[in-house]
Amino acid sequence: MNLDFNQLKESLLNSGEKAFRAGQIFKSLHMGLDFDNMTDISKELRQKLNEKYISQSIKILQSIKAQDGTEKFLFSLKDGNLIEGVLMRYKYGNTICISTQVGCRMGCAFCASGLEGLVRNLEPAEMLGEIVSVNAYLGGGLKDKRQITNVVLMGSGEPLDNYDNVIKFLRLVSDEHGINISPRNVSLSTAGLVPQMYKLADEGLPVNLTVSLHSPIDEERKKIMPIANAYSIAEIIKACDNYFEKTGRRFIFEYVLIKGNNDTPKHAQTLIDLLSKKPCHVNLIRLNEVKENQLKSVADKDAYRFLGLLERGGVSATVRRRMGDDIEGACGQLRRRYLKDYNKKEI
Ligand code: SAH
Repeated sequence: MNLDFNQLKESLLNSGEKAFRAGQIFKSLHMGLDFDNMTDISKELRQKLNEKYISQSIKILQSIKAQDGTEKFLFSLKDGNLIEGVLMRYKYGNTICISTQVGCRMGCAFCASGLEGLVRNLEPAEMLGEIVSVNAYLGGGLKDKRQITNVVLMGSGEPLDNYDNVIKFLRLVSDEHGINISPRNVSLSTAGLVPQMYKLADEGLPVNLTVSLHSPIDEERKKIMPIANAYSIAEIIKACDNYFEKTGRRFIFEYVLIKGNNDTPKHAQTLIDLLSKKPCHVNLIRLNEVKENQLKSVADKDAYRFLGLLERGGVSATVRRRMGDDIEGACGQLRRRYLKDYNKKEI
C-alpha cells in the first residue's frame, strides 16, 4: 500500500472507522501481514480494505544464501516483473540492498541491471515491500524486534531517476508508526543526477549520499557512464558540497576498479587532486565481472595498491569487502538468470 500514515487514517475515517485503526493496520502492514491475516480487525473491515487496497505488493520468489551469510532475494511484483535485493549480515546488524526500478536506463558499461534498459519505476510500497518481506522472512517484527538495521538503495535502478517515489518511500520507511528506520541508516547511491542531488538536500531527509564516480576524468567517465555526458565531475562535486552544507552528512564515492581502465597511478593522483580536501570517503569496489561485457576486475593486490596511493594522498578510502562471492554477484544477474532458465517473459 502506498498510503502514508495520515492518508490511511483519513481513508479509514472517511469510511466510518475509528482513528486508532490506522495505527493497528499500518503496523500490521509493516510486519508483512496481508489484510486477511489481520485478526485484530473485523472481517468486514478486512474485506473493505481488500476491495480498495493491495496489502503486500511484492513477495519473495526465491532466495539464495552464500557461505558468508549474504542472501540474495528474487521478488515478484503484482504485474509479473521481477526485482532483486541482497541481505548482508554484519556484526552490528543486517543491511538490505534494495532495487528502486525494474531495469535501469543509465546504461553503465559494467552493470548488468541496465542491459535491457528501464522497464518501469518501482512504487513506494514496492521498495518498502522489499524490506518488510525480508524482515518478516527473518522472523523480525517492529521496534526492538526489527531484524533490518540499515538500508542501501544500491540495487537495480537509479533512485534519483525515480525521484518522487523514492522520496515517498524514504518517508514511509522512516515513519515512527511503521518499520521506522532512520534516514541516517539509509544510503542512497546515484550515478550523479545533479539537479536531483540538490533537491534531495532540501527534503529534510538526511540520508547518506553515495555517488558512483568510477573515473576522475570526464572524458573517460563518459565512456563507461553515459550520464557523464549530462553532468561533469565538477558539477557533481559541487552538488555533494551543497549536500554536506545542508545535511552535515559526509558523502561517499563509489569507485569500481576496472583493469586497465581506471586503475592507474594517474587516476589515483587525479582523485587525490579532486577529493583530498573534501569531507568524503572513497569506496573501492572490485568489479564483479558480468559475462555480457569484456571488462575485467583488478587483482586484489592492485586494488590495495590503489588504496595505498589514495591514503598517502590524504583521501579516506577502503576496499569494499567481497560478500556473497559464491552466489550471483553483480546487480541484475540473478533476475537475468531466472528469466533465462525458466524462459520467462516479463509482462
Ligand atoms: N544507479 C545507482 C545505484 C545502483 S548501482 C548508482 O549508479 O549508484 C549501485 C552500485 O553498484 C554502483 O556504484 C554501481 O557502479 C555498482 N555496480 C554495478 N555493476 C557492478 C559490477 N558489475 N561490479 C561491481 N559494482 C557494480
